[in-house]
Amino acid sequence: MNAALAARVRQLQAEAEHRRAIREFRARRAADEQARIGALLNELIAALADVVDDGACITCISCRRALSPRRRSCPHCGTVVAAERARRAA
Ligand SMILES: [Zn+2]
Repeated sequence: MNAALAARVRQLQAEAEHRRAIREFRARRAADEQARIGALLNELIAALADVVDDGACITCISCRRALSPRRRSCPHCGTVVAAERARRAA
């Protein structure tokens, strides 16, 4: 192998190494982005769950089961829930 060819081989190896490093960097950055998006989604889900719990869930005064606030009476025991809803709203 003459000197010029050896130099060319080293150059190509350096280029391949450089490209490999770029690929690794991009993969790491994509993974970081995925992790950030995942964390944001978890935060969002938790925040939405809080809102839903606050706004859409009341407890039957008689049987203590969770009810939709749209219900006028408990589907489990039949207790009218208007009074309980008023108490929760106060
Ligand atoms: Zn009930």
